[in-house]
Amino acid sequence: MAKTITILGSTGSIGKNVVEIIKVELEKYQIIALTAKENFQELISQALILKPLFVVIENKKHYQIVKDALSQINNCQVMSGTESINEIAKIKCDILFSAIVGSAGVLPTLNAIKAGSNIAIANKESLVVAGDIIMEEVKKSKINLLPIDSEHNAIFQIFEQDNLNNIEKITITASGGPFFRNQKDPENITIEEALKHPNWQMGAKISIDCATMMNKGLEMIEAYRLFPVAKSQLKILIHPQSIIHGMVEYKDGSSLAMLSYPDMKTPISYALEFPKRLDLYQYQLIKKFDLAKINKLEFFEVDYLQFPAVKLCMQALETEGSALVVLNGANEVAVNKFLNKEIAFDKITTIIEKSLNQINHRKLSTIEEIIACDKQARTIANSIF
Ligand code: NDP
Repeated sequence: MAKTITILGSTGSIGKNVVEIIKVELEKYQIIALTAKENFQELISQALILKPLFVVIENKKHYQIVKDALSQINNCQVMSGTESINEIAKIKCDILFSAIVGSAGVLPTLNAIKAGSNIAIANKESLVVAGDIIMEEVKKSKINLLPIDSEHNAIFQIFEQDNLNNIEKITITASGGPFFRNQKDPENITIEEALKHPNWQMGAKISIDCATMMNKGLEMIEAYRLFPVAKSQLKILIHPQSIIHGMVEYKDGSSLAMLSYPDMKTPISYALEFPKRLDLYQYQLIKKFDLAKINKLEFFEVDYLQFPAVKLCMQALETEGSALVVLNGANEVAVNKFLNKEIAFDKITTIIEKSLNQINHRKLSTIEEIIACDKQARTIANSIF
């Protein structure tokens, strides 16, 4: 029987990689839904190939054009708006790809978990702001939560459930982004320079997060939610080649690592067919891995003076609750402002730090409290500069 699949954020960098993999053996899959926000052309082309049952374009202004373009597909319902994304996420499928960027991914991801769909999660912001609630619902629904982020996917692949008491530490690697070796005056960094990641092709928000290394801090929080380890057992290591993605060190002195070229198709395919692996070489979807061609693998400690965002993430993880929501919301606002040329690059971390300092932090127990805190964080972050 065909595997049923929904892709939230199908027009993004992760979404397009999922589509590329699915396309080569289309007969194996039935697509339940595709969603996008602005990119209606890409959404239409994907829908014409994948023939989903539902297509949602978040921005209502594009609704008619998508509806007209897809009128030739039988049984394809076109919808629009955030509410529709939240609703179609409730349709149970074998695997739902959560690949919307930012905290807009929280509600549909939660809805999908509650509906009993297995989740391939790229949307790390959900786990940062609502990690406790998400993990609780995952347990209740007994679904698989499969990490797509390459570092977490690596750790997921090598994590030994039978040796939980014998884990010394978990290491997630970071390339260091475009400025690790090529240090620039942070006040004068341009958007183009910040978007130019040395190893990965990604969406704009995560690319800027990599340049500040905020991404690695968010990933540390994500790792804390996904894996049963203490905060003190999490480590970030700069590894500019992005070949080793994650490592688990056990107390017998063994360190297990997962290696691959930096290509999201590897972790995506692992989540798609878990517990089996796909033959990506057969369709030339990825380059054959050749360690002999990789000259060297280097590792460095993080310099918190160069990357203060990592420290802010560590502090927010210590505090938890509202600190994590403010950290994420302020970052989303600040990254948008940088991309809109409203602030200089170095102000991204300043906005996050100032926002974190303006709130009396508290525990947040419900999704409504999280949404209210996110709103408050955005108002504060928007008022700075
Ligand atoms: P992109 O910006 O490339 O894509 C984001 C997707 O979400 C697009 O389909 C976009 O639609 C849609 N979207 C954006 N805002 C909204 C909204 N408010 N409501 C509904 N849909 C929305 O991001 P990436 O693919 O790079 O990243 C997606 C997630 O995966 C992020 O959380 C990121 O941190 C994570 N991730 C990404 C990696 C990568 O290699 N790219 C690696 C690991 C994790 P449209 O384009 O049509 O506007």
